[in-house]
Amino acid sequence: MKIDRIDLFHVAMPLIYPWKTAYGEDAAIHAVLCRMSSGSLWAWGESAPFAAPCYSPEWAGGAFAVARDWLAPAIVGHELASSSDLLDRLQVYKGNPFAKAVFDIAWWGLKSRASGIPLHRLLGATRDQVAVGADFGVMDSVDDLLSSIDAAVSEGFPRVKLKFRPGWDLPMLKRVRETFPNQVFHIDCNSGYTLEDRELFREVDELGLAMIEQPLPHDDLLDHATLQSELQTPICLDETIVSVHRAQQACRIGACGWVNIKPGRVGGLTNAVAIHDTCQAAGIPCWVGGMLESATGSAACVALAMLDNFSYPADIFPSARFYHEDLADPPLALTPGESGEPSVHAPLEIPDPVESRLKSLTIEAATVRAS
Ligand code: MG
Repeated sequence: MKIDRIDLFHVAMPLIYPWKTAYGEDAAIHAVLCRMSSGSLWAWGESAPFAAPCYSPEWAGGAFAVARDWLAPAIVGHELASSSDLLDRLQVYKGNPFAKAVFDIAWWGLKSRASGIPLHRLLGATRDQVAVGADFGVMDSVDDLLSSIDAAVSEGFPRVKLKFRPGWDLPMLKRVRETFPNQVFHIDCNSGYTLEDRELFREVDELGLAMIEQPLPHDDLLDHATLQSELQTPICLDETIVSVHRAQQACRIGACGWVNIKPGRVGGLTNAVAIHDTCQAAGIPCWVGGMLESATGSAACVALAMLDNFSYPADIFPSARFYHEDLADPPLALTPGESGEPSVHAPLEIPDPVESRLKSLTIEAATVRAS
């Protein structure tokens, strides 16, 4: 496929309520979208590094600038027979996985439309439906959290993830565990701790969690391996896994028992599948995370989640959970699985943003054409 034109958008999508994590609060999700055109076909890619460089060193304004000034010009006008061709053209530019992911995901969308094959099949999936989990950020009170968990348990969510940060950690978790002794829980620390906190994690280890997600700094592997050797509860790496190479190293040194894969964080679907395969070969199961993308970006996450080694319910949310109106149409909706658990169905294709909504949410836009 020869890439003729790329349109880029930096959008801010207002949330129904702020998303609170160890990094702070987001009132809107900042994302970068691209419309990649080849002949009469086009497809969209999205990644959401958020407004500030707190989850990772990238941020939406920076990702947009890198995409406009360096990445899009390296792709436009070129024949890209495979996604490896695309990534090869971007390889000279170090890092910036969220910015690169926008293009990689759009390329897969184009490939899907050109071939008429649904994206999840192109990625190698045989399933069409997987379960999703419930996920709760920091709330105003533990009582509010307990009633939200109660609702999620009643709705049949197979697991519940809790944000965990200083000031909202062990006392909260102990009350949750006392109230729901049999529910599957895990905590996401978003890099909020260090090895100095190993005593805290020894107490967490007694609470029978499914995993402890990213307890230590975002760029660390060795301390995670040390902590993992001291705990029964598996550690799940999220922020740390930004490339296939990093995933290989994590597997090799025993830094984790699980890996959370987000297409944005690892540079797109091509790397996401390679990390999935690497972990599978090492006997490490994975699950798919999201960055509160619109239905455009979420569709890529849903397609990815259909691969076999994703064996823990995904962090994929219906549009209505966070947005009054999704940027794209159709919005993402949950459907009951075989046992009634909330699930997602593989999309036939990545939905396009609605033009009027895109216009009203765009902060900056650019077009790069073949000369
Ligand atoms: Mg996480």
